[in-house]
Amino acid sequence: MTPRDRKADQTYVLAVDQGTTSTRAMIFDHGGQIVAVDQVEHEQIFPKAGWVEHDAYEIWKNTRKVIGGALAEGNFNSSHIAAVGITNQRETAVVWEADTGKPIHNAIVWQDTRTQAMVDELAKGSDEGVSRYRSRVGLPLATYFAGPKIAWILDHVDGARERAEAGELLAGTIDTWVLWNLTGGAKNGGVHVTDVTNASRTMLMDLESLSWDEEICADMGVPVAMLPEIRSSSEVYGECKPGVLAGVPVSGILGDQQAAMFGQACLDRGTAKNTYGTGSFMLLNTGEDIVHSGNGLLTTVCYRLGDDAPVYALEGSIAVTGSLIQWLRDNLKIIDSSPEVEDLARSVDDNGGAYFVPAFSGLFAPHWRPDARGAIVGLTRYCTRAHIARAALESVAYQTRDVLEAMRDDAERAGGSMTELKVDGGMVANNLLMQFQSDLLGVDVVRPEVAETTALGAAYAAGLAVGYWENTEAIVDNWAEGGRWSPEMKEGERERLYRQWNKALSRTLDWVDDDIEAVSEEA
Ligand code: ADP
Repeated sequence: MTPRDRKADQTYVLAVDQGTTSTRAMIFDHGGQIVAVDQVEHEQIFPKAGWVEHDAYEIWKNTRKVIGGALAEGNFNSSHIAAVGITNQRETAVVWEADTGKPIHNAIVWQDTRTQAMVDELAKGSDEGVSRYRSRVGLPLATYFAGPKIAWILDHVDGARERAEAGELLAGTIDTWVLWNLTGGAKNGGVHVTDVTNASRTMLMDLESLSWDEEICADMGVPVAMLPEIRSSSEVYGECKPGVLAGVPVSGILGDQQAAMFGQACLDRGTAKNTYGTGSFMLLNTGEDIVHSGNGLLTTVCYRLGDDAPVYALEGSIAVTGSLIQWLRDNLKIIDSSPEVEDLARSVDDNGGAYFVPAFSGLFAPHWRPDARGAIVGLTRYCTRAHIARAALESVAYQTRDVLEAMRDDAERAGGSMTELKVDGGMVANNLLMQFQSDLLGVDVVRPEVAETTALGAAYAAGLAVGYWENTEAIVDNWAEGGRWSPEMKEGERERLYRQWNKALSRTLDWVDDDIEAVSEEA
């Protein structure tokens, strides 16, 4: 056994995965296998319709708890951990006091829409409307991103803006909040840093220079002085102190979807993954090119390793996929658990002519139609709950094709192509869906052996920075196929079904009008 192998056998990398509903710590070995894990959920705070908050302090407490829990599960101490990586729910914003570490307001979560008026105002101030900053930041003006959330806190907490300008307050996304606390916080010189992937979701970072865009910060009313320093996704930011991991370097940060790209080893131009969770997120690696979408996709940073050139991605987000299956379970009560949807859908040969467009809160990428609402169309007396289950599952695949078509078009303009789709997330357990997905796309759909791609990606970024993994080839070598589905459907049938889907989708548009808005305002 060489010294390197011995080190690899005896030390591990710990990833903190701070998600929307829970916080997890996962410990990985050199082969990228999970050796220990702990997880705690946190409270979802809904002060008003459309508002979603988290208690940032609860998140930090949970982070400490799960780190301790995972170490205890593996009977490890800090000497077994070579590095710590962080991955996080993106776009969620926190503002806190530099000298006490106390948040001045709950964290405003990515789903929160309270900044709509500010965003509308900014869009009105330019001929380009919501695309006002797109060429610089890759994103349309939308409530989704972190910058306007920081501005909202400064506007609504007494004296906050003056304190921010005086350097008394710090702002950050959740990666920054966790890193600052892990590396010492207020008492021990916490490091105030974010990585390029998280910064690329604030709407405040210039994609080319990878620095804060002072003009946009000024337009939005966010003092640059309170923002973290932007660093790469893989380098030593600082050491944990004090606590159970004291002395261990924190050396990787990636936003959750970018971390999944890393965990899926989508490190080369043209590689893509789709994560099927409550919603779905597809990312395509576009290499060193910043590709601006002509089709409603977001342009974002995929990762940057140390001083290497940054790698970019196109991203398409779908609002409702796995949550539609929860809706069948909780609202229609036609299944008792999510996995049951597969048996129910398999009990019929096809969708019986039914198409389900789950535009519950409008349609996201690539359509971006807030005026759409959900519909099941094509119903006849023949249809049963099994057809509805099947139509619901199929809708996940159709929506994914919509995004993939947009991506293919953008990628071809940028001189690339896409040959297979890597998949992960809770829904990939569904074989019927995965086969239908491959049939509908006409490309192979491939699942990895280690499904926890998000935490694994953060572990890889951290391990690479300290030499635990020598280079990205080690990561590509670690990736092992856990399942593959190849297209079996005839081309004519595939296109016929997709035409029907498009017809169904067109029936959901223009639904929200003044009458409907009046009702929802009363509610
Ligand atoms: P998230 O990380 O967004 O919380 P997960 O990746 O854990 O989501 O996936 C959970 C989602 O997957 C849920 O919405 C659930 O309804 C759906 N799901 C889980 N198992 C299945 C299955 N076998 N078939 C269809 N949907 C499933």
